[in-house]
Amino acid sequence: MIVDTEARLIVSHGGTLVDRTGERPDDLDALETLTLSSRELSDLDMLASGGLSPLQGFMGWEDYESVLESMRLPSGLPWALPVCLAAVLAPKGDRVALADEHGRAYGVLEVEEVYAYDKEREAQQSFRTTDAAHPGVASMYDQPDLYVAGRVTVFERVMPPFRELALDPAETRTAFAERGWRRVVGFQTRNPIHRAHEYLTKVALETVDGLLIHPLVGDTKSDDVPSATRVECYRVLLDGYYPDDRVLLAAFPAAMRYYGTYDAQLIFDEFEPHELDIEPMFFEHSFFCRRCGSMASAKTCPHDPDQHVFLSGTKVREMLAAGEPPPEEFSRPEVAEVLIGAYRS
Ligand SMILES: [Zn+2]
Repeated sequence: MIVDTEARLIVSHGGTLVDRTGERPDDLDALETLTLSSRELSDLDMLASGGLSPLQGFMGWEDYESVLESMRLPSGLPWALPVCLAAVLAPKGDRVALADEHGRAYGVLEVEEVYAYDKEREAQQSFRTTDAAHPGVASMYDQPDLYVAGRVTVFERVMPPFRELALDPAETRTAFAERGWRRVVGFQTRNPIHRAHEYLTKVALETVDGLLIHPLVGDTKSDDVPSATRVECYRVLLDGYYPDDRVLLAAFPAAMRYYGTYDAQLIFDEFEPHELDIEPMFFEHSFFCRRCGSMASAKTCPHDPDQHVFLSGTKVREMLAAGEPPPEEFSRPEVAEVLIGAYRS
């Protein structure tokens, strides 16, 4: 089926979906190699796929300054955080190979610029704190002191943890268009989906054509539910409770960037309404209310909190570890079963 995705869907951020994949150069072995951290490697892969469109490489000084000062690229396009590549020394040549910590090369960078940066200032501007107790700040303080900027070409893609869930932006756009979706809501999570989040994804889906469930499935160190278990939870939930032709499950390949609980919502206050082609949807915490006899939130339920089925994260973990499923009003039994199985093994 040939589908004109551009005609049906909003345009990519900045106007064009970037593709920075290419051929492995013949002189690769002769190039100096920069070793990338896992976060930089995932950024490199997103640069390749257009997941960071319109960026074509790691940011130079002008882009970096503009993003730190105004959360915009110099063109005025909204852009929240720097995407930079740190290095100990300035490369000698005009091209460098980009490799992981095992020395496996994934791409090449055309060195356009090397510059020193102020870590405390970046921490303050990006994370609103200079305190190294913040994990994002701590990892930035640990990185080398120079940034190397330039366009990248990626000849080898990073092996994703779940191949069947790894869809590039061009592939999700094609999938949306094939299903005839024009308006799509995305839900990003790093947790199993219980009834509360099932509810809000469905409330959102009621207003659009399709739902993209977009879980982070890379290493999330503090996560006590392993990725494989969470992916299994998503599958049983989608199989049992969502219509097949309205939902797409695809992994979100970005490394985690540490926000506060509501920062991902508050950041939209920095931009004018409709400045972004996407429309943010904000939800309150939701729960099952026994008096309402349905899922609800503080916005939609007038009843006393003792009517609400609420379980703390600690309580849920205790129940699952004891092999006891949480109430059906809190978690679907199929999802609880997967989680209990994971605790047993
Ligand atoms: Zn109620």
